[in-house]
Amino acid sequence: MDSPATTSTVRIARWTPGGCVWCGSTDSIETYRNEPRCGLCREKEAVIDEAKHFIGMYGLRPLGGTLASDDEEEREYRVTARDAREVLNRIRLEKLPDPAVVRKALRPRAAAAVAAPATPRPASASAPAKAAPTKKSQAGVTGIDAIELQSRVEKLLGQLTAVDEQISALDGAQGLPARARLKDLDKQRTTVLSTLAALEKARRRQ
Ligand SMILES: [Zn+2]
Repeated sequence: MDSPATTSTVRIARWTPGGCVWCGSTDSIETYRNEPRCGLCREKEAVIDEAKHFIGMYGLRPLGGTLASDDEEEREYRVTARDAREVLNRIRLEKLPDPAVVRKALRPRAAAAVAAPATPRPASASAPAKAAPTKKSQAGVTGIDAIELQSRVEKLLGQLTAVDEQISALDGAQGLPARARLKDLDKQRTTVLSTLAALEKARRRQ
């Protein structure tokens, strides 16, 4: 457990108009996914988004649960996303507001404050430092370079060969342990193949 001193953990009980819909803070509120969110929340959400993007691109096991990972990079995404989630859970309002109530409260404000809601994304370029990580990190993930993809593909192909070898070594083996092992290997094989497929897709997008 982290010491509560690491972030301000004054938990707010209820949402009030003008506050972040998740934690109630009024610190650097900006619209995030059509909802008013504070600077800290947006930063943490962006970290989780980035990890999700990475996980999705490689067809990896969804976030949450164990941190078990194929490599350091994946592990780092999982760890930072988990930490971000912990912070979000810690600061969460005791009672989250009803989305309809939020929308209603926002309407007059939105009209006054956000004159042009048509282009929510590009606006972040001119936004202050707090908003920057989202944009930068997204560019970083989508701009993943060909060399890295290639090395992942090679690693996976190596894994696939190893799994196939173990499968053929088990050929003809009887008994429960052998069958369980075979089932496990088949599962591994499927995972490797789907990751390869995801990588191939990512490569074609480049
Ligand atoms: Zn917040």
